[in-house]
Amino acid sequence: MATSDAGRSALNGWRGGFLLLSALAASGLIAIILSGSAMIPTIAMAVIALASFALHLASRRRSFAIDAARSARAEDITVIPSAARSVLECVDEPLLVLDRTGRIIFANKASQGLVGPDAERKRISAVLRTPEVLESIDRILAGGEPEDIAFSVHVPVQYHYEAHIARDRAGLVVLRVRDLTAIRRAEELRVDFVANASHELRTPLAAVTGFIDTLRGHAKDDAPARESFLEIMSVEAGRMRRLIEDLLSLTRIELNEHNPPSSEVDVVSIIHDAAAVLAPLAQADRTTVEIEPHVPLSVVGDRDDLTQVFQNLLHNAIKYGGERGHVRIRFGHAEMPGKAGAGQHYVAIQDHGEGIPREAIPRLTERFYRVDVKRSRERGGTGLGLAIVKHIINRHQGRLLIESTPGEGSTFTVFLPAALARQEASL
Ligand code: ADP
Repeated sequence: MATSDAGRSALNGWRGGFLLLSALAASGLIAIILSGSAMIPTIAMAVIALASFALHLASRRRSFAIDAARSARAEDITVIPSAARSVLECVDEPLLVLDRTGRIIFANKASQGLVGPDAERKRISAVLRTPEVLESIDRILAGGEPEDIAFSVHVPVQYHYEAHIARDRAGLVVLRVRDLTAIRRAEELRVDFVANASHELRTPLAAVTGFIDTLRGHAKDDAPARESFLEIMSVEAGRMRRLIEDLLSLTRIELNEHNPPSSEVDVVSIIHDAAAVLAPLAQADRTTVEIEPHVPLSVVGDRDDLTQVFQNLLHNAIKYGGERGHVRIRFGHAEMPGKAGAGQHYVAIQDHGEGIPREAIPRLTERFYRVDVKRSRERGGTGLGLAIVKHIINRHQGRLLIESTPGEGSTFTVFLPAALARQEASL
């Protein structure tokens, strides 16, 4: 740019000199032709030469003005130097800089999701259709104080943002946008969770208080009724106790989720222990639990946590596996393609119960989600068992695979990192 400007002014200088000389020559020639004397041509030459030089100066001043305007415009567009651009590009949240007319002079990559690609040089109102933000920009351009504006974008799904809008000393407007979607979702989940937990507790509590009133009133002297009411109260109290225990487990596991275990445990023995604990429930349902014979399988894990995982899954297989059901437990090993380490051991718990509708499978590990709420409650379920399973498996850097065919049954397979030392020793 600098070289071409210098070239252009040198050219203008030559052009001026050439013009002056040709004007002198031309005016002398005309004067000689017109007057035939040497004095008049000299004066005429001087007058015409001065006039043409004045003309040349005027035209040069005009071209200087055009150049200045041109470079002022160029300055507006490239007002952010490239070093600053590359620094701003590193900001991983949307960032826009607008000139004094509301035109975008810088948009980093992170802002593309908000204003689309190629937003630079466009007016902000052409790429962002959020009235509250545009109105704030207008206020700031008019000299207003910095503002924080919360806004939502609904396409294609709902996103929540907060924009901080401020003006710098040169009058440029800086718009920094924070994506609050994850924080908002977490808040919504927390509110839902508290509402669900209170609702789950309120139902058995209402039953217990109702029966206390009945026992104090007309059933006071009715021994058989008293026995049956006390039995119901005990069941409801048990449900509240389980719910509180599950809520506490979930909180404890969530707090610990980013702290992976380092000890080694044998999953085969954990499965045998879990089956022994649940044997009375299986017998009550006349369900048989078949555990495939297997040598110890050592995984990296926490014994108490994994006991809870397999008790929950086995309990579900018994609960939802139908009366006179048959639950089968298998073990195996899976290599992890492309990953170093000892691969994963897996435990598959298969029942032949009612199965799970396809669309419900992705939601099973959500807190309080049940396919059939009434049935889950009848069987003493809290709706938290699989949420606990998911969090524990996450902590173990494992994986839960749920396969089901309605009417045929379900298989819940837990993959856990195999312990390296044992794996090498067995080779
Ligand atoms: P719950 O306490 O209700 O059993 P879970 O979180 O353990 O809660 O399970 C959530 C829901 O998943 C259950 O209510 C049930 O609808 C479904 N489910 C879980 N395991 C099975 C299974 N083995 N067969 C059929 N449905 C199941």
